[in-house]
This record gives sequence, structure tokens and C-alpha cells, in this order.
Amino acid sequence: MFEKIPVEVGLVHEGERVRKNDMQVELGGPHIAEKFEIVRVRPADQIEDGAIRITGPDISAMEEGKSYPIGIVVEIAGAKVEPDLEGVVERRIHEYSNFIEGFMHLNQRYDIWIRLSKKSYKKGLTSFRFIGEVMHELFKNELPIIEKVQITFITDPDTIRPLYAEALTTYEARDARARGLSDEEVDTFYGCALCQSFAPTHVCVITPQRYANCGAISWFDGRAAAGIDPKGPIYAIEKGTCIDAEKGEYTGVNESAKKRSMGEVSRVYLYSAFGYPHTSCGCFEGIAFYIPEVEGFGIVLRGFRDVTVNGLPFSTMADSTAGGRQIDGFHGISIEYMRSKKFMDADGGYNRVVWMPQETKERLKQYIPESVYGAIATEKDVKSIPELKAFLSAHDHPVMKRWETGPEAGQDALAGDGRHVQVFSGGDIPLTSGGFRIILKNARITAEKVIIQPIRPGGEHHGTQKP
Ligand code: SF4
Repeated sequence: MFEKIPVEVGLVHEGERVRKNDMQVELGGPHIAEKFEIVRVRPADQIEDGAIRITGPDISAMEEGKSYPIGIVVEIAGAKVEPDLEGVVERRIHEYSNFIEGFMHLNQRYDIWIRLSKKSYKKGLTSFRFIGEVMHELFKNELPIIEKVQITFITDPDTIRPLYAEALTTYEARDARARGLSDEEVDTFYGCALCQSFAPTHVCVITPQRYANCGAISWFDGRAAAGIDPKGPIYAIEKGTCIDAEKGEYTGVNESAKKRSMGEVSRVYLYSAFGYPHTSCGCFEGIAFYIPEVEGFGIVLRGFRDVTVNGLPFSTMADSTAGGRQIDGFHGISIEYMRSKKFMDADGGYNRVVWMPQETKERLKQYIPESVYGAIATEKDVKSIPELKAFLSAHDHPVMKRWETGPEAGQDALAGDGRHVQVFSGGDIPLTSGGFRIILKNARITAEKVIIQPIRPGGEHHGTQKP
């Protein structure tokens, strides 16, 4: 199928990393403000099947080691192809392009970050035409309802600008659709296992009020995808019985998570960052991170380039959060989930949020209760935890009620004696020692003191900031 492509194409290359020193070029990523990928459904007579167009410099015309703007527009048609499917098909760009040897695609929508390796470039992968041909073949073969596909790669900044603005409007319209629906109103949630190739125990549970961590798949998208391909990576989850309405624990979700994670995840709290939080693969749009000194949460989105109030940047905390694990207090989230009434509901919602970047705070203004909006600090207000504590006191932040009640406050984050910080809890914690695999069932690990240091481990997680 891929004889004319100068590099290998296959599952074996999914999850490959291209480090900075090994990259020929970078497309999108943190240094480029306007980048996007989008799928649009069009009438069949407007699509020239197999057409690959390039607007702006092709890869061969790009300077080695530099970053460039990128827009990818995939237009599809088919008798059974509905606009509802756009979001789901769009997420497959990530999957299919990662099959290409030496081509690394991270994130989604307006956050895409692509690198091409020098090795693959030297083998002849010098044009977007090859990338488009691979994507065209895979879209047609893997999703047979798609009858026609044309793909346009845009690298010219002046052409990208208006299309980027148009793409943002389209994403917002998709997201807004699910906002009127509550989790209680539906019997079925949806699961997504697309990221298991990077994080094998990660299972996204997509509900009307808990948008997928990547911010790319809504409950409506899940329903449309499961409808056309029930055995595919996006599948229906019967809710079952509600065990805990506040935390968002359902028998059907627990059973599904256990089955899809091969027993590693047996319980999921949909609306809490403690106990059995939703797993995080690595392509989350942001992180909610616990700040034990003030018993509140900081929020940081992927694009924030500075260090946060705890002295750590997004990339370091992303390493700690990712990998399909359930980490108490480090919680992968999407922006749309932050617009939901269920946002960390069991932990106090926005009454527990103490810090976030100014840009994020302004972006979410209409979703943050007015009563707490002014009491949430940003990087413009404070630079350290002591400054944060003083700011919260001066603004009478509701989290202070947890301080007043002494060591019992924040029991969900502290061990029973109130002196030990809980550093990990999970359904099953696997340890490997001397050739044996030991599984601690329903374990909680606590420590008197936790020191978090920014280190660069040998193996990084999927989707983290520094590939
Ligand atoms: S983050 Fe979740 S919903 Fe998004 S592609 Fe990965 S598994 Fe699917």
C-alpha cells in the first residue's frame, strides 16, 4: 500500500519520539502561535479524491532545525458521512500520521506539534505529498464510510491566519453543543482507547459533562463514532448504577475501565482528582495540580511557558501526570471540562482553585463563579507559595475554610493522622522486583514530606511538552 513512500509506515512507529537534536524541521509546537488541524465534511462534488495540495513552502524548502507554521485541512465526503463525525475523524490525523517513520505528531486542534526526523528526511521524506498520501490511504481503508478525501497542507502564515480563526469558531461550535446536556440525562457514556498505544492503561471516559482530556472528543462525537464502528477504539459504556453521585462513580464505568485497562484501573471517580481520578494519557490540554500548603489546586494549560506558582513548569508536571496512571492530585483535564458544572465537583470545583495563568482565567471568566473569580491568583499576582497564601487570605478565598478546621481539613489529600501527605493512591499499584511482579491492591502511599524536583527522566510520556 505504501510502496511509493520513502520511509516505513506502520503501527510499529506509533509513539516514536523525535528529539530536538534529531529533527529536520518542526511544524507548529510551542514557538508557533497559529497552527491547527481540522476535518470538514463537504458535498461530494466539492472533493477531488486523492488531491494533496501544499500552500506555502514544502518541507524541502525549509531550513534545518527551524520551526514553521502549519495548517492541515482534511476534507471528506461520503453518503453516510455526517458533520457529527468531524471531531472523531480529526483525531485520527494524530493516529495515522504517527504511523510514518520519523514523523512525530503531538496534541490536537490548535495545539499541534509535529517534528520530522533528519533520518527520515535523508531517506527522502522531503514533501508533505507523502504525508498526505499516507493519510489518504489510511482514511479510506480504516474508515470505509469515507468515500472521498482531499488534504491541504498550509505553511504560508498569511494563508493560515484566516483559516485558523475559522477553525477556532468551528471547534467552539462543536464544544457548545454538548454544554446543554447533563450526565444524569443520559444512560450511556463513551470510552476512547485511541491513546493506549502510548499509555496502555489509559481509558478516557467521555460524558456530556466530562469532555475528553485531549479536548477533541465530545459526548456527541463519541456517540457518532461508536454508532458507525461499535468495535472501534471509541465505544459505548452503559453507565450502570451510580455508586457516588458527588464523585461520579458508576458501576458501568468501573467495569469498562477494568476490562479496557486489563485490570490495572478498577475504579474511576469522574469528578475528583483524589482517590481514583480519571487516568491521564499525556495529550491532556491542561493539568490541575494540588498545592498541599494551601489545600487548593493550581491549573496550568499546555501553552503556558513560564513556571507555575509551585516553581514547576507544565512540562515537568506533565511527566508526573501522564502515562495512563491515577495520580492523586495531578489530574489531566481539558478546557471544555473546565467549563462544566461537574469540574472537580467532589473536590470543591472552582472554590478549590487557587491559581491559574491570567490568560486562562480571562478565557474561562464566564464559567468561574463570580464569588471566587477575584480570589484566584495568577502569575501577575504571586510568584511563590508564601505569596499565594497571603493573596488567598487577603481575598478571603473559600479554600481558607479548610485551613480553619485544622489537620482534618483536606482529608482527601492527607493520610488519617493529618501529618502525612498522601503521595499516591490507586486501585492497583504494580511493583517489579527481582523478576517478580507484586501488585498492591487498593494501596495508599503516604510520606511526611514530599519533595518535587524537576528532573528529566530517560523515558518521557506521550504528549508532554519536551519531546
Ligand atoms: S485523550 Fe482520550 S479521547 Fe482523546 S484521543 Fe486520547 S484516549 Fe481518545
